Amino acid sequence: MSFKTEAFVLQAREWQKADRLYELFTPQEGVIHTILRSAAKPGNKLAGHMLPFCRVRVMIGRGRLDHLAGAAIINDYKNIRTDLKLMSLAAAIVELLLKDKSTENKHLEYRQVEKIFDLLDDTKISFEKKSILVRVFLWKYLSLAGWQPELDTCLFCRQIIDSQQASQYLPGRGIICLEHKENSYLPINPELLVFLRSINTLDFEEFIKINISNKTKKEWLKVSQVYYQTVFDQPSQALKILPYA
Ligand SMILES: [Zn+2]
Repeated sequence: MSFKTEAFVLQAREWQKADRLYELFTPQEGVIHTILRSAAKPGNKLAGHMLPFCRVRVMIGRGRLDHLAGAAIINDYKNIRTDLKLMSLAAAIVELLLKDKSTENKHLEYRQVEKIFDLLDDTKISFEKKSILVRVFLWKYLSLAGWQPELDTCLFCRQIIDSQQASQYLPGRGIICLEHKENSYLPINPELLVFLRSINTLDFEEFIKINISNKTKKEWLKVSQVYYQTVFDQPSQALKILPYA
């Protein structure tokens, strides 16, 4: 059996002999692994279409190991692939997608990936804005995948936390009010809370216009690192190296 699908090329690595293994992100099943036979042999046309960060249309032969039977580029995101800093942002997205092991329908997530890659490739948007967008992507993606934190009421006493109030982040769960103090909780200033609440309701484009203070950026970075760590049980390499956002 074989089927056609769109996909993002996440990673390629050497496989047995001259074969190559590709990890692709698909709307139907999330991450799939597929083998391209003789990829390393000169004249293999398919291999030339399967560059990392490309959006492709592929034909997959289903078997004990899926194999690649056809490939065409839809968008090669040339601006991303020729800029090291942008590649590090794209790599942060790839790292997240590779960690998500669920194989259910990923159409909504796929659309978000398409959107963020289009924006990273857009030369009119600054690098700093793009790194903010990547962090927004992380929050949107984890929420879609079922890890949305509670951001409306205190997890302990259930009082509603309004947009003027400072609060704290309880790792993996959401916010708590200042009545429950402990050093392991991360501070969330009112600006950050309003910002976090907006992530799932606003489109990516809106975040190009929004400006947040440096203090909020720093708090957001810490909360994001802990959020990621509690979901995947390991730190994000990408969040460690990303200087902004
Ligand atoms: Zn409380």
